[in-house]
Amino acid sequence: MDTSRTDSEGDGGDAVADGDRERRTTTAPDTDDRFAVPLRGVAVDHETRCAHWNSAVDVVALRFGCCGTYYPCDACHDAATDHTAEPWPRDRFDEPAVLCGRCRARLSVRAYLDTDDACPRCGVAFNPGCRAHADRYFDI
Ligand SMILES: [Zn+2]
Ligand SMILES: [Zn+2]
Ligand SMILES: [Zn+2]
Repeated sequence: MDTSRTDSEGDGGDAVADGDRERRTTTAPDTDDRFAVPLRGVAVDHETRCAHWNSAVDVVALRFGCCGTYYPCDACHDAATDHTAEPWPRDRFDEPAVLCGRCRARLSVRAYLDTDDACPRCGVAFNPGCRAHADRYFDI
């Protein structure tokens, strides 16, 4: 019955190699225990950068209307699920739907869209380019 230790994944121990922080790929039905909210994606780092968007300012994750789960981007959503992504609905813009990967603040869509491309809590810069495709994430 002593099967509680299940750390048989890979080997090489817990080396923190190359100065790279830990990255994980998480697909359904698992979520990522580093985050307090349901969050999935491809090669997600501790500030929610992903395989697709990983510059210094790519530190937000967005919640999708279809499944209520946070993803760093829509490509992560499509990699982790088998359904069509739906943007966060307009009538729920006052609910938390944007996660700051730096301080883990959860922002409403309204609050996020009102920022000057920086987190209102910790001040980390958000990618201003995200506004160009905000309609993928929000029903605006
Ligand atoms: Zn979904
Ligand atoms: Zn991604
Ligand atoms: Zn923040």
